[in-house]
Amino acid sequence: MAYQNYIYRTSGRNYARAGCTQRDGSEDSGRTGSGVSPAFSERYEVDIHTHTIASGHGSGATITDMVKAAKARQLKMLGISDHGPAILGGGRVSYFRNLKYAQRERLGIKMLYGAEADITNHRGDLDLSDDVLKGLDYVIASMHSPVIKPGTVEENTAAYIEAMKNPHVSVIGHCDDTKFPVDPFRLFDAAMKYHVLLEINNSSLSPDGYRGDTKYTDLVLLNLSVHFNYPVLFSSDSHGTEHVGDFTYAEDAARLAKVPRSLILNHSSEALLSFLAEK
Ligand SMILES: [Zn+2]
Ligand SMILES: [Zn+2]
Repeated sequence: MAYQNYIYRTSGRNYARAGCTQRDGSEDSGRTGSGVSPAFSERYEVDIHTHTIASGHGSGATITDMVKAAKARQLKMLGISDHGPAILGGGRVSYFRNLKYAQRERLGIKMLYGAEADITNHRGDLDLSDDVLKGLDYVIASMHSPVIKPGTVEENTAAYIEAMKNPHVSVIGHCDDTKFPVDPFRLFDAAMKYHVLLEINNSSLSPDGYRGDTKYTDLVLLNLSVHFNYPVLFSSDSHGTEHVGDFTYAEDAARLAKVPRSLILNHSSEALLSFLAEK
């Protein structure tokens, strides 16, 4: 295996997984002897995939409304990631440029301002220029129809991997979407190589989700996270306030895959910031 000695490092801690030996419960302090992580009864600190009225659909919520919802969920950090301009009604370039003037802390919650940029073709181009992206705290790159026509597994996978190479892209959004089938093994490999997080999107896994049966891909990604000791990110993808910080279904999937809390960066705003800074 190519990743036998893969080491993931953040916040001065080393997370190492040697070889393909079976996990015995003693390798990771985040697990109990029963193999069930206690993490899931704990609160999360951070959600960075959320949408306001600036996304142009699904919500009339302002950033202030979102902050209040995050406060009610007892988050420490909130990221606002409105849709890029390729989506009908999505944020304009001027909106994303002006985020640098927005408050860094609101109601005691640390704020990150990013974008959910659209991958616009199978070469992995985005709908916001590097000049705009570099002014943001983080960038999620996603594929949405009708911005991009679904391709073959090869084309979709290649598009995500090309987007990962963009130095501003730190997260790939909902790559579990059945409309855009991918090779999750190659995606995970590339995510480790280009220092990108693959999200486990709560909205995809919700029973009323509209991305088809995403569970297989999400479980593969979560198992790869455990195997390679490389982190993942839960995302609410909340359009408006209702689901801010809600990872109910992502949590269920992570529990099935026995992912330790140390690999779910939502537990630590510090670990997430460290990860983002290393790109
Ligand atoms: Zn999206
Ligand atoms: Zn989204």
